[in-house]
Amino acid sequence: MTDETTTTPVQGQNLTDSPHYLAQALMANGIKNMYGVVGIPVTDFARIAQGMGMRYIGMRHEEDAVNAAAAEGFLTGKPAVALTVSAPGFLNGLAAMLEATTNGFPVIMIGGSSSRNVVDMHEGEYEGLDQMSYAKAFCKESFRIDKIEDIPLAVARAMHIACSGRPGAVYIDFPDDAVAQTMDKDEAAAKLWTANQPAPVMPPAQASIDEALKLLSEAKNPLMLVGKGAALAQAENELQEFVKKTDIPFQPMSMAKGVIPDDDPHNTASARSLALRSADVVLLVGARLNWMLNFGEKGWNPDVKFIQIEIDPNEIENTRPIACPIVGDIKSAMAMLNAGLEKTPVKASAEWLGAIQSESQKNDEKFAARINSGKVPMGHYDALGAIKKVYDQNKDVILTNEGANTLDDCRNIIDIYQPRHRLDCGTWGVMGCAVGYSIGAAVATGKKVLYIGGDSGFGFDGMEVEVACRYNLPITFVVLNNGGIYRGDFENLGKDGDPSPLTLSYDAHYEKMIEAFGGKGYYATTPDEVEQMVGEAIASGKPSFVHVQLADYAGKESGHISNLNPKPVVGPLATSEVTADPYIEGAHM
Ligand code: ADP
Ligand code: MG
Repeated sequence: MTDETTTTPVQGQNLTDSPHYLAQALMANGIKNMYGVVGIPVTDFARIAQGMGMRYIGMRHEEDAVNAAAAEGFLTGKPAVALTVSAPGFLNGLAAMLEATTNGFPVIMIGGSSSRNVVDMHEGEYEGLDQMSYAKAFCKESFRIDKIEDIPLAVARAMHIACSGRPGAVYIDFPDDAVAQTMDKDEAAAKLWTANQPAPVMPPAQASIDEALKLLSEAKNPLMLVGKGAALAQAENELQEFVKKTDIPFQPMSMAKGVIPDDDPHNTASARSLALRSADVVLLVGARLNWMLNFGEKGWNPDVKFIQIEIDPNEIENTRPIACPIVGDIKSAMAMLNAGLEKTPVKASAEWLGAIQSESQKNDEKFAARINSGKVPMGHYDALGAIKKVYDQNKDVILTNEGANTLDDCRNIIDIYQPRHRLDCGTWGVMGCAVGYSIGAAVATGKKVLYIGGDSGFGFDGMEVEVACRYNLPITFVVLNNGGIYRGDFENLGKDGDPSPLTLSYDAHYEKMIEAFGGKGYYATTPDEVEQMVGEAIASGKPSFVHVQLADYAGKESGHISNLNPKPVVGPLATSEVTADPYIEGAHM
């Protein structure tokens, strides 16, 4: 078990070591923040990086550390680091690493690992695992630093792969043999480098732009579908200019809300069904035709022609034919479309826009009645309607959101006015992401953050409120408690008297979790209290928590995607239908 690569520094030698060199290489690439959980063999690396000027945020679970770093990647376009210890710590980070890759968020996860030779001979090493190989399936690429000399290369490779094309996660394995290495300090400094254009501009072919403009100019009912790729691409100015010049209405995907402000009159969110079934030419801007869009089939005009702006050529025609692929980056493509409008003018008809707007108005009126009901005990709409009033006065707050009904209803009720101001369950629809996102959003931007989660969603990562308190982050956590997964009134079908599989603590006081760590807690039972308390909590700019008590019958099994849950064909569940909130226009993702 000897380690020949470890050298003992000789006094008087001008040496650096791997932890110092890795921190230096990360900082040379503009990486400012690291979120992690320390332990063997990376404790000193974190301390050294902090000492050298990186910000280190000590999290309580590795999944949340990766989510926090990934949120920073989405919000800034630049990756942050998530740091884990070996084996179990590393494995805890994998779900979030794959989630970041699925969402297209750039992030670099660095995992300390155990001595290579002992792991590779299966000698039973402490937390021994071949982490680089395991990681491969969960990220865009995975590397291992075996030699200190490779540190600049590892970081530059990670930067290029995390940021280019569709962004995603990169894993760097940092085994203890490498952690212990040293090298001449001047030689090390001379070998440092900063990745050259990690997110290169990739303009599409002009011919594809010309073809797209031709299709749009001939369309009767053109529509633009804006996805979170447009938010990642930071293409808000180009998109807003295009809408202004063409009058083409748009449908925002959930994390694209705010790329064009939700209160823009071209927004079709409240007339989603009409827009999708009537549009004859659709410009897809950074959105995938996946389950959220019924794969471009059900609910769409059967004759619709898609123009797809997409950086990843593998994504073109992944579910259905595409009339006009535009392979390139959204910022360049939208600028080229804007420029091409002089030669090929495009203008949506007043008739089409009028049809969308009158449908929206009708649905908005129905909606307004529901969110201003004043009902007690509250349902999701009543509580979220009250929070909307507060958010409308605090439009620069970054909203993070998870849950089932809490997600679906919040997305529909709370308008977003600025790009990259909403983070949520994303492409997979996962739970347990948004508390980590909140920490990353607050650290990366310095802005206030409003977390809105269900009692179930919050439970996955709720311990991170301690992190918010320890770093005094301006995060207000709001938990809508209906005492269960989906809702709290499900029955145990057996006779043992235990709670049902969906039941959580209804008579809870989640706000006490933050009080335990010095934050301020509130308990709200009416819409007026919600508005007052959430308003006060946000204004404080301090770690704060509002427990919102809903009716235990508020919500619907699986929220708006209950169609994805196969129904039993025999027994009581085959016939029972537990619903509360009927479908509201615009509600489906
Ligand atoms: P949503 O969930 O909002 O519909 P998706 O994550 O499904 O969005 O789709 C986003 C798409 O945008 C991905 O296919 C991704 O490859 C693409 N994308 C990301 N960044 C860029 C960019 N800069 N230029 C072009 N396409 C991009
Ligand atoms: Mg619940």
